[in-house]
Amino acid sequence: MRESKVSIVVITSAIGVIALAVSQLIWMRHSWHLAEQIFNQRVSMALCSTVEKYKGGMLCDNGACSGGPGQQFVVSAGHDLPTELMYDTVFLAQLTRSLHFHQIDLDYELSLTETKQCQVNVYQSTVLLPTEGGGRREAYLRLIFPNKNGYILRSMNFMVVATILILIFVTAVLLLVNWSLVRQKRLLQTNVDFFNHMAHEFITPLNNIGLAVNMLHKKHPALKDHPLMDVIRRENGQLLGEVERVLHLARLDKGEHALQKENFPLKALLQAAVSSMAMPLTERQGRVNLDEVPEDLEVYGDGKHLASVFRNLLDNALKYTRLQPDIRISARKTPQGILVSVEDNGIGIPPEQRNLIFEKFQRAHHGGPLGGGQKGFGLGLAYVKSMIELHKGYIRVFSEENKGSRFDIFLPA
Ligand code: ADP
Repeated sequence: MRESKVSIVVITSAIGVIALAVSQLIWMRHSWHLAEQIFNQRVSMALCSTVEKYKGGMLCDNGACSGGPGQQFVVSAGHDLPTELMYDTVFLAQLTRSLHFHQIDLDYELSLTETKQCQVNVYQSTVLLPTEGGGRREAYLRLIFPNKNGYILRSMNFMVVATILILIFVTAVLLLVNWSLVRQKRLLQTNVDFFNHMAHEFITPLNNIGLAVNMLHKKHPALKDHPLMDVIRRENGQLLGEVERVLHLARLDKGEHALQKENFPLKALLQAAVSSMAMPLTERQGRVNLDEVPEDLEVYGDGKHLASVFRNLLDNALKYTRLQPDIRISARKTPQGILVSVEDNGIGIPPEQRNLIFEKFQRAHHGGPLGGGQKGFGLGLAYVKSMIELHKGYIRVFSEENKGSRFDIFLPA
Protein backbone atom coordinates (compact mmCIF):
# COMPACT_ATOMS: atom_id res chain seq x y z
CA MET A 1 0.00 0.00 0.00
CA ARG A 2 1.30 3.42 -0.91
CA GLU A 3 2.24 6.05 1.72
CA SER A 4 -0.72 8.23 0.73
CA LYS A 5 -3.16 5.29 1.03
CA VAL A 6 -1.86 4.45 4.52
CA SER A 7 -2.31 8.08 5.58
CA ILE A 8 -5.84 8.06 4.17
CA VAL A 9 -6.68 4.89 6.13
CA VAL A 10 -5.24 6.37 9.36
CA ILE A 11 -7.06 9.70 8.91
CA THR A 12 -10.37 8.07 7.95
CA SER A 13 -10.29 5.75 10.93
CA ALA A 14 -9.52 8.71 13.24
CA ILE A 15 -12.47 10.60 11.73
CA GLY A 16 -14.58 7.44 12.18
CA VAL A 17 -13.73 7.22 15.89
CA ILE A 18 -14.46 10.93 16.42
CA ALA A 19 -17.78 10.60 14.54
CA LEU A 20 -18.66 7.56 16.64
CA ALA A 21 -17.80 9.41 19.89
CA VAL A 22 -19.87 12.45 18.83
CA SER A 23 -22.85 10.32 17.82
CA GLN A 24 -22.65 8.44 21.14
CA LEU A 25 -22.59 11.75 23.03
CA ILE A 26 -25.61 13.02 21.10
CA TRP A 27 -27.37 9.74 21.74
CA MET A 28 -26.57 9.92 25.49
CA ARG A 29 -27.78 13.52 25.67
CA HIS A 30 -30.99 12.45 24.01
CA SER A 31 -31.35 9.57 26.47
CA TRP A 32 -30.70 11.97 29.36
CA HIS A 33 -33.54 14.21 28.16
CA LEU A 34 -35.84 11.21 27.86
CA ALA A 35 -34.94 10.00 31.35
CA GLU A 36 -35.49 13.52 32.69
CA GLN A 37 -38.88 13.74 31.00
CA ILE A 38 -39.91 10.44 32.53
CA PHE A 39 -38.71 11.67 35.94
CA ASN A 40 -40.64 14.92 35.56
CA GLN A 41 -43.74 13.06 34.52
CA ARG A 42 -43.55 10.79 37.54
CA VAL A 43 -43.04 13.65 39.98
CA SER A 44 -45.97 15.54 38.47
CA MET A 45 -48.18 12.51 38.77
CA ALA A 46 -47.04 11.85 42.35
CA LEU A 47 -47.63 15.47 43.38
CA CYS A 48 -51.01 15.64 41.71
CA SER A 49 -52.24 12.35 43.07
CA THR A 50 -51.11 13.36 46.58
CA VAL A 51 -53.16 16.57 46.48
CA GLU A 52 -56.10 14.74 44.90
CA LYS A 53 -56.05 11.90 47.38
CA TYR A 54 -55.75 14.33 50.23
CA LYS A 55 -58.85 16.24 49.19
CA GLY A 56 -60.59 13.56 47.15
CA GLY A 57 -61.75 13.93 43.51
CA MET A 58 -59.96 14.88 40.29
CA LEU A 59 -58.15 18.13 40.80
CA CYS A 60 -54.96 17.95 38.83
CA ASP A 61 -53.95 19.05 35.45
CA ASN A 62 -50.39 18.89 34.08
CA GLY A 63 -49.09 22.03 32.45
CA ALA A 64 -45.91 23.85 31.61
CA CYS A 65 -44.74 26.60 33.88
CA SER A 66 -45.14 29.85 32.00
CA GLY A 67 -42.34 32.34 32.50
CA GLY A 68 -39.25 30.14 32.88
CA PRO A 69 -37.14 27.53 31.05
CA GLY A 70 -37.92 23.80 31.07
CA GLN A 71 -39.94 23.66 34.26
CA GLN A 72 -42.55 21.25 35.37
CA PHE A 73 -45.58 22.85 36.80
CA VAL A 74 -48.48 20.93 38.17
CA VAL A 75 -51.63 23.02 38.29
CA SER A 76 -54.16 21.74 40.72
CA ALA A 77 -57.56 23.15 40.09
CA GLY A 78 -56.97 25.40 43.08
CA HIS A 79 -58.48 23.60 45.98
CA ASP A 80 -58.73 24.67 49.58
CA LEU A 81 -56.03 23.19 51.73
CA PRO A 82 -55.28 23.82 55.38
CA THR A 83 -52.55 26.39 56.23
CA GLU A 84 -50.75 23.85 58.36
CA LEU A 85 -50.47 21.46 55.40
CA MET A 86 -46.70 21.32 55.70
CA TYR A 87 -47.03 19.79 59.18
CA ASP A 88 -49.79 17.38 58.28
CA THR A 89 -48.33 13.87 58.68
CA VAL A 90 -51.12 12.28 56.63
CA PHE A 91 -50.31 14.57 53.71
CA LEU A 92 -46.53 14.01 54.02
CA ALA A 93 -46.94 10.23 54.29
CA GLN A 94 -49.22 10.28 51.27
CA LEU A 95 -46.63 12.24 49.26
CA THR A 96 -43.80 9.85 50.16
CA ARG A 97 -46.03 6.87 49.28
CA SER A 98 -46.98 8.44 45.99
CA LEU A 99 -43.38 9.17 45.05
CA HIS A 100 -42.39 5.65 46.01
CA PHE A 101 -45.27 4.30 43.92
CA HIS A 102 -43.86 6.22 40.96
CA GLN A 103 -40.40 4.75 41.67
CA ILE A 104 -38.84 7.95 43.02
CA ASP A 105 -37.07 7.08 46.23
CA LEU A 106 -35.15 10.29 46.58
CA ASP A 107 -34.72 12.87 49.32
CA TYR A 108 -36.84 15.91 48.65
CA GLU A 109 -37.45 19.36 50.04
CA LEU A 110 -41.07 20.45 50.40
CA SER A 111 -42.13 24.05 50.92
CA LEU A 112 -45.20 26.22 50.66
CA THR A 113 -44.59 29.65 49.15
CA GLU A 114 -46.54 32.68 48.15
CA THR A 115 -44.64 33.16 44.91
CA LYS A 116 -44.54 31.06 41.80
CA GLN A 117 -41.02 29.91 40.88
CA CYS A 118 -40.56 28.77 37.33
CA GLN A 119 -37.17 27.03 37.41
CA VAL A 120 -35.61 23.82 36.21
CA ASN A 121 -36.00 21.00 38.73
CA VAL A 122 -38.72 22.81 40.69
CA TYR A 123 -42.08 21.06 40.77
CA GLN A 124 -45.07 22.98 42.10
CA SER A 125 -48.75 22.72 42.57
CA THR A 126 -51.14 25.63 43.01
CA VAL A 127 -53.21 25.35 46.15
CA LEU A 128 -55.74 27.60 47.84
CA LEU A 129 -55.30 28.38 51.51
CA PRO A 130 -57.81 30.07 53.86
CA THR A 131 -57.06 33.67 54.88
CA GLU A 132 -57.71 35.15 58.32
CA GLY A 133 -60.54 37.25 56.97
CA GLY A 134 -62.36 34.09 55.86
CA GLY A 135 -61.31 34.40 52.19
CA ARG A 136 -58.79 32.35 50.16
CA ARG A 137 -55.33 33.06 48.84
CA GLU A 138 -53.25 31.28 46.20
CA ALA A 139 -50.07 29.55 47.35
CA TYR A 140 -47.57 27.16 45.78
CA LEU A 141 -46.64 23.78 47.07
CA ARG A 142 -43.05 23.31 45.92
CA LEU A 143 -41.02 20.14 45.64
CA ILE A 144 -37.25 20.11 44.96
CA PHE A 145 -34.96 17.08 44.52
CA PRO A 146 -31.33 18.07 45.28
CA ASN A 147 -29.99 14.70 44.02
CA LYS A 148 -32.08 14.51 40.88
CA ASN A 149 -29.13 14.57 38.41
CA GLY A 150 -27.32 11.79 40.24
CA TYR A 151 -30.53 9.76 40.22
CA ILE A 152 -30.98 10.15 36.46
CA LEU A 153 -27.33 9.32 35.87
CA ARG A 154 -27.71 6.18 37.96
CA SER A 155 -30.77 5.17 35.94
CA MET A 156 -28.59 5.48 32.82
CA ASN A 157 -25.69 3.59 34.39
CA PHE A 158 -25.70 0.65 32.04
CA MET A 159 -25.95 2.86 28.96
CA VAL A 160 -23.05 5.11 30.04
CA VAL A 161 -20.80 2.18 30.93
CA ALA A 162 -21.67 0.31 27.72
CA THR A 163 -21.03 3.42 25.60
CA ILE A 164 -17.66 4.11 27.22
CA LEU A 165 -16.62 0.46 26.87
CA ILE A 166 -17.66 0.32 23.21
CA LEU A 167 -15.77 3.55 22.49
CA ILE A 168 -12.64 2.29 24.26
CA PHE A 169 -12.86 -1.04 22.43
CA VAL A 170 -13.36 0.47 18.97
CA THR A 171 -10.60 3.04 19.53
CA ALA A 172 -8.20 0.37 20.79
CA VAL A 173 -8.92 -1.92 17.83
CA LEU A 174 -8.48 0.89 15.33
CA LEU A 175 -5.28 2.06 17.00
CA LEU A 176 -3.94 -1.48 16.88
CA VAL A 177 -4.92 -1.96 13.23
CA ASN A 178 -3.43 1.40 12.22
CA TRP A 179 -0.28 0.78 14.18
CA SER A 180 0.25 -2.61 12.55
CA LEU A 181 -0.58 -1.10 9.14
CA VAL A 182 2.04 1.60 9.53
CA ARG A 183 4.52 -0.98 10.82
CA GLN A 184 3.79 -3.33 7.90
CA LYS A 185 4.15 -0.45 5.49
CA ARG A 186 7.54 0.44 6.98
CA LEU A 187 8.68 -3.18 6.82
CA LEU A 188 7.49 -3.50 3.24
CA GLN A 189 9.26 -0.30 2.31
CA THR A 190 12.48 -1.60 3.87
CA ASN A 191 12.18 -4.83 1.89
CA VAL A 192 11.38 -3.04 -1.34
CA ASP A 193 14.32 -0.65 -0.81
CA PHE A 194 16.61 -3.59 -0.16
CA PHE A 195 15.30 -5.44 -3.20
CA ASN A 196 15.71 -2.39 -5.42
CA HIS A 197 19.16 -1.71 -4.07
CA MET A 198 20.15 -5.31 -4.72
CA ALA A 199 18.78 -5.16 -8.26
CA HIS A 200 20.79 -2.01 -8.81
CA GLU A 201 23.95 -3.75 -7.63
CA PHE A 202 23.28 -6.73 -9.92
CA ILE A 203 22.88 -4.80 -13.12
CA THR A 204 26.58 -3.97 -13.66
CA PRO A 205 27.93 -7.52 -13.13
CA LEU A 206 25.17 -8.92 -15.37
CA ASN A 207 25.97 -6.44 -18.11
CA ASN A 208 29.64 -7.31 -17.73
CA ILE A 209 28.88 -11.01 -18.13
CA GLY A 210 26.99 -10.21 -21.35
CA LEU A 211 29.89 -8.12 -22.64
CA ALA A 212 32.42 -10.81 -21.72
CA VAL A 213 30.39 -13.45 -23.60
CA ASN A 214 30.25 -11.22 -26.68
CA MET A 215 34.00 -10.57 -26.54
CA LEU A 216 34.65 -14.27 -26.12
CA HIS A 217 32.59 -14.92 -29.25
CA LYS A 218 34.61 -12.38 -31.17
CA LYS A 219 37.93 -13.74 -30.01
CA HIS A 220 36.97 -17.40 -30.39
CA PRO A 221 34.33 -17.68 -33.14
CA ALA A 222 34.38 -21.45 -32.71
CA LEU A 223 32.72 -21.03 -29.30
CA LYS A 224 29.70 -19.31 -30.81
CA ASP A 225 27.67 -22.45 -31.16
CA HIS A 226 28.91 -24.07 -27.99
CA PRO A 227 25.87 -25.18 -25.92
CA LEU A 228 27.44 -23.86 -22.69
CA MET A 229 27.74 -20.41 -24.24
CA ASP A 230 24.05 -20.55 -25.06
CA VAL A 231 23.25 -21.41 -21.46
CA ILE A 232 25.32 -18.46 -20.17
CA ARG A 233 23.73 -16.07 -22.67
CA ARG A 234 20.18 -17.27 -22.01
CA GLU A 235 20.42 -17.31 -18.21
CA ASN A 236 22.20 -13.98 -18.20
CA GLY A 237 19.52 -12.49 -20.44
CA GLN A 238 16.78 -13.87 -18.19
CA LEU A 239 18.34 -12.44 -15.04
CA LEU A 240 19.05 -9.12 -16.69
CA GLY A 241 15.41 -8.93 -17.79
CA GLU A 242 14.14 -9.56 -14.25
CA VAL A 243 16.56 -7.08 -12.71
CA GLU A 244 15.54 -4.44 -15.25
CA ARG A 245 11.87 -5.07 -14.47
CA VAL A 246 12.53 -4.56 -10.75
CA LEU A 247 14.26 -1.26 -11.45
CA HIS A 248 11.59 -0.11 -13.92
CA LEU A 249 8.84 -0.89 -11.42
CA ALA A 250 10.72 0.89 -8.62
CA ARG A 251 10.98 3.97 -10.82
CA LEU A 252 7.32 3.68 -11.84
CA ASP A 253 6.30 3.45 -8.18
CA LYS A 254 8.25 6.57 -7.34
CA GLY A 255 6.73 8.33 -10.36
CA GLU A 256 10.21 8.88 -11.76
CA HIS A 257 9.55 7.41 -15.18
CA ALA A 258 9.62 10.12 -17.80
CA LEU A 259 8.34 8.73 -21.09
CA GLN A 260 10.04 9.72 -24.31
CA LYS A 261 7.08 9.62 -26.62
CA GLU A 262 7.18 9.73 -30.37
CA ASN A 263 5.27 8.35 -33.35
CA PHE A 264 6.55 5.09 -34.77
CA PRO A 265 5.22 2.20 -36.89
CA LEU A 266 3.68 -0.49 -34.70
CA LYS A 267 4.56 -3.40 -36.94
CA ALA A 268 8.27 -2.55 -36.92
CA LEU A 269 8.19 -2.36 -33.13
CA LEU A 270 6.49 -5.75 -32.88
CA GLN A 271 8.89 -7.29 -35.38
CA ALA A 272 11.84 -6.02 -33.33
CA ALA A 273 10.29 -7.49 -30.18
CA VAL A 274 9.79 -10.85 -31.93
CA SER A 275 13.38 -10.81 -33.25
CA SER A 276 14.73 -10.21 -29.77
CA MET A 277 12.93 -13.39 -28.71
CA ALA A 278 14.45 -15.42 -31.57
CA MET A 279 16.47 -17.70 -29.34
CA PRO A 280 13.70 -18.91 -27.01
CA LEU A 281 11.34 -19.09 -29.99
CA THR A 282 13.72 -21.36 -31.88
CA GLU A 283 14.30 -23.46 -28.79
CA ARG A 284 10.57 -24.03 -28.39
CA GLN A 285 9.98 -24.22 -32.14
CA GLY A 286 7.43 -21.50 -31.67
CA ARG A 287 5.72 -19.35 -34.30
CA VAL A 288 4.64 -15.76 -34.13
CA ASN A 289 2.09 -14.58 -36.66
CA LEU A 290 2.08 -10.84 -37.31
CA ASP A 291 -0.10 -10.98 -40.44
CA GLU A 292 -2.98 -9.18 -38.78
CA VAL A 293 -0.97 -6.11 -37.92
CA PRO A 294 -1.51 -3.45 -40.62
CA GLU A 295 1.69 -1.94 -41.99
CA ASP A 296 0.50 1.62 -41.73
CA LEU A 297 -0.52 1.62 -38.06
CA GLU A 298 1.37 4.22 -36.08
CA VAL A 299 1.65 4.35 -32.31
CA TYR A 300 2.46 7.34 -30.15
CA GLY A 301 4.46 6.29 -27.13
CA ASP A 302 7.83 5.40 -25.66
CA GLY A 303 9.28 2.91 -28.16
CA LYS A 304 11.81 1.41 -25.76
CA HIS A 305 9.24 0.65 -23.08
CA LEU A 306 6.51 -0.49 -25.44
CA ALA A 307 8.98 -2.94 -27.02
CA SER A 308 9.71 -4.19 -23.53
CA VAL A 309 5.96 -4.54 -22.86
CA PHE A 310 5.49 -6.77 -25.93
CA ARG A 311 8.63 -8.75 -25.12
CA ASN A 312 7.12 -9.52 -21.72
CA LEU A 313 3.87 -10.72 -23.28
CA LEU A 314 5.74 -12.86 -25.83
CA ASP A 315 7.97 -14.26 -23.11
CA ASN A 316 4.89 -15.27 -21.09
CA ALA A 317 3.18 -16.72 -24.15
CA LEU A 318 6.20 -18.99 -24.59
CA LYS A 319 6.64 -19.81 -20.91
CA TYR A 320 3.04 -20.75 -20.21
CA THR A 321 2.49 -23.05 -23.17
CA ARG A 322 2.90 -26.81 -23.05
CA LEU A 323 2.32 -27.38 -26.78
CA GLN A 324 4.36 -25.96 -29.60
CA PRO A 325 3.85 -22.19 -29.13
CA ASP A 326 1.60 -20.62 -31.71
CA ILE A 327 1.37 -16.89 -31.02
CA ARG A 328 -0.85 -14.54 -32.97
CA ILE A 329 -0.46 -10.79 -32.78
CA SER A 330 -3.16 -8.61 -34.27
CA ALA A 331 -3.85 -4.90 -34.17
CA ARG A 332 -6.58 -2.54 -35.27
CA LYS A 333 -7.39 1.09 -35.15
CA THR A 334 -10.39 2.25 -33.12
CA PRO A 335 -11.85 5.78 -32.96
CA GLN A 336 -10.06 6.32 -29.64
CA GLY A 337 -6.72 4.65 -30.33
CA ILE A 338 -5.08 1.34 -31.17
CA LEU A 339 -5.92 -2.10 -29.83
CA VAL A 340 -3.18 -4.73 -29.94
CA SER A 341 -3.91 -8.35 -29.05
CA VAL A 342 -1.36 -11.02 -28.21
CA GLU A 343 -2.95 -14.45 -28.29
CA ASP A 344 -1.36 -17.78 -27.42
CA ASN A 345 -2.32 -21.45 -27.36
CA GLY A 346 -1.04 -21.89 -23.82
CA ILE A 347 -2.36 -23.30 -20.59
CA GLY A 348 -4.66 -20.37 -19.84
CA ILE A 349 -5.23 -18.67 -16.52
CA PRO A 350 -7.75 -19.87 -13.90
CA PRO A 351 -10.65 -17.33 -13.73
CA GLU A 352 -10.12 -16.47 -10.04
CA GLN A 353 -6.49 -15.51 -10.69
CA ARG A 354 -6.98 -13.33 -13.74
CA ASN A 355 -7.11 -10.08 -11.80
CA LEU A 356 -4.27 -11.05 -9.47
CA ILE A 357 -1.65 -11.62 -12.16
CA PHE A 358 -1.25 -7.87 -12.72
CA GLU A 359 -0.19 -7.38 -9.08
CA LYS A 360 3.47 -7.38 -8.15
CA PHE A 361 4.96 -10.78 -7.18
CA GLN A 362 1.72 -12.61 -8.00
CA ARG A 363 1.96 -15.80 -9.97
CA ALA A 364 -1.00 -17.92 -10.98
CA HIS A 365 -1.22 -21.57 -9.87
CA HIS A 366 -1.71 -23.61 -12.96
CA GLY A 367 -1.50 -27.05 -11.42
CA GLY A 368 0.86 -29.50 -13.02
CA PRO A 369 4.39 -29.01 -14.32
CA LEU A 370 5.12 -26.74 -17.25
CA GLY A 371 8.42 -28.18 -18.31
CA GLY A 372 10.83 -25.95 -16.45
CA GLY A 373 10.42 -22.81 -18.52
CA GLN A 374 8.17 -20.92 -16.16
CA LYS A 375 10.77 -19.04 -14.13
CA GLY A 376 9.96 -15.56 -12.93
CA PHE A 377 9.27 -13.26 -10.01
CA GLY A 378 5.73 -12.30 -10.97
CA LEU A 379 6.82 -8.81 -12.01
CA GLY A 380 6.36 -8.90 -15.79
CA LEU A 381 2.64 -8.15 -15.99
CA ALA A 382 2.86 -5.62 -13.13
CA TYR A 383 5.42 -3.74 -15.19
CA VAL A 384 3.31 -4.10 -18.37
CA LYS A 385 0.18 -2.77 -16.65
CA SER A 386 1.97 0.17 -15.01
CA MET A 387 3.67 1.09 -18.28
CA ILE A 388 0.46 0.90 -20.31
CA GLU A 389 -1.35 2.98 -17.69
CA LEU A 390 1.47 5.51 -17.86
CA HIS A 391 0.60 5.74 -21.57
CA LYS A 392 -3.03 6.34 -20.45
CA GLY A 393 -4.07 3.00 -21.93
CA TYR A 394 -5.25 -0.25 -20.40
CA ILE A 395 -4.64 -4.01 -20.52
CA ARG A 396 -7.26 -6.76 -20.38
CA VAL A 397 -6.90 -10.52 -20.28
CA PHE A 398 -9.24 -13.11 -21.80
CA SER A 399 -8.39 -16.70 -21.16
CA GLU A 400 -9.67 -20.21 -21.38
CA GLU A 401 -7.92 -22.90 -19.41
CA ASN A 402 -5.93 -25.34 -21.57
CA LYS A 403 -6.90 -23.40 -24.69
CA GLY A 404 -4.96 -20.17 -24.44
CA SER A 405 -4.94 -16.55 -23.37
CA ARG A 406 -5.33 -13.23 -25.08
CA PHE A 407 -3.92 -9.99 -23.75
CA ASP A 408 -5.51 -6.87 -25.23
CA ILE A 409 -3.57 -3.65 -24.95
CA PHE A 410 -5.24 -0.37 -25.73
CA LEU A 411 -3.14 2.70 -26.46
CA PRO A 412 -4.93 6.00 -26.91
CA ALA A 413 -4.39 7.94 -30.11
P1 ADP B 1 6.15 -14.27 -14.15
O1 ADP B 1 5.95 -14.76 -15.53
O2 ADP B 1 7.51 -13.81 -13.88
O3 ADP B 1 5.63 -15.23 -13.15
P2 ADP B 1 4.23 -12.22 -14.83
O4 ADP B 1 3.86 -11.02 -14.06
O5 ADP B 1 4.72 -12.03 -16.20
O6 ADP B 1 5.26 -12.97 -13.93
O7 ADP B 1 2.95 -13.15 -14.89
C1 ADP B 1 2.20 -13.37 -13.71
C2 ADP B 1 1.51 -14.70 -13.77
O8 ADP B 1 0.50 -14.68 -14.78
C3 ADP B 1 2.42 -15.82 -14.22
O9 ADP B 1 3.09 -16.38 -13.09
C4 ADP B 1 1.46 -16.79 -14.87
O10 ADP B 1 0.91 -17.64 -13.88
C5 ADP B 1 0.36 -15.93 -15.42
N1 ADP B 1 0.50 -15.70 -16.88
C6 ADP B 1 1.03 -14.62 -17.47
N2 ADP B 1 0.96 -14.71 -18.81
C7 ADP B 1 0.36 -15.88 -19.07
C8 ADP B 1 -0.03 -16.57 -20.27
N3 ADP B 1 0.21 -16.07 -21.48
N4 ADP B 1 -0.62 -17.76 -20.15
C9 ADP B 1 -0.89 -18.29 -18.92
N5 ADP B 1 -0.57 -17.70 -17.76
C10 ADP B 1 0.06 -16.52 -17.82
